[in-house]
Amino acid sequence: MASTKIYDFIERIAELQRADSRRCTAEFGLQPVQLEVLHYLSICNQFSDTAKALTEYLGQTKGTVSQTLKVLENKGYLRKVADIKDGRITHLQVTDSARQLLHQAIPSPLFNAACERLSDKKNAQIESSLRELLQALLGSNNMQTFGVCHSCRYNTHKGGSEYYCELLKLPLHETEVQLICKEHQLNR
Ligand code: SF4
Repeated sequence: MASTKIYDFIERIAELQRADSRRCTAEFGLQPVQLEVLHYLSICNQFSDTAKALTEYLGQTKGTVSQTLKVLENKGYLRKVADIKDGRITHLQVTDSARQLLHQAIPSPLFNAACERLSDKKNAQIESSLRELLQALLGSNNMQTFGVCHSCRYNTHKGGSEYYCELLKLPLHETEVQLICKEHQLNR
């Protein structure tokens, strides 16, 4: 069955990736999941940078995520900022030192080296196939896509650098549409 072969490849790649991630994060005194949290928070938009959205994205328990956030805050990689309009909402922001760390660690040097061995065309083909597989996986489980804003059905391009979110009824800046969002829904 084709799905068994695909599963085996993904499993093997994931194992190698986990081992590489452990090696890389150990250099910075972090656990892989802590790096994953910082990575998510560095690429998500203002509607998705909360502990609740992070918990949904990681598929972990609230308690585990809360412990991880505490560690990252104590290490100076994360700060909590109250929402300007609604004080009940707390945004999680990565600090400059976290961004420097992410720049060195993601993608890992080993992963970069592997991709460089492949042509641009092959890299694009793999990216496209993996995106399709991820969408199929999320779709068959009715899970949130956490996709990039510009590919969302609610995103309307108003011209130039102006965009508008039809769901949240808010204007979006050009830089925001490159970020991932917990409310994202694919164009069908
Ligand atoms: S357009 Fe979609 S992805 Fe972008 S902010 Fe709105 S709901 Fe989120």
